[in-house]
Amino acid sequence: MTHVVTESCRGCRFTDCVTSCPVACFHVNEVRVYINPQVCIDCGACIPACPVRAIVEEFDLPEDQLHWMDINAKAAERYPVIRTKLPPLDGADERRRQLGF
Ligand code: SF4
Ligand code: SF4
Repeated sequence: MTHVVTESCRGCRFTDCVTSCPVACFHVNEVRVYINPQVCIDCGACIPACPVRAIVEEFDLPEDQLHWMDINAKAAERYPVIRTKLPPLDGADERRRQLGF
């Protein structure tokens, strides 16, 4: 079982999630983050830390978002681990408003 970062993360990168994780399972690229399912211990600490509710427990994923499990797993192999908070991307606040938060 794992936690999964979904579509709403794109364009945000507030990375509050990263500093809440006790096992450094977040990976980052230019536009968003991903969770490594091999490392996640399912503590749930990252869920309330995300201002746009982009992180979902695997079993809570709606059927039309199950593909995010594979995307996170593959991206975790490809992109570097992130352990500290980054500045949000340009437009992150606007993106958050668009998402209703
Ligand atoms: S806080 Fe949420 S939206 Fe921002 S980088 Fe983390 S998972 Fe993505
Ligand atoms: S559930 Fe816990 S271990 Fe998994 S990504 Fe979130 S904070 Fe890290």
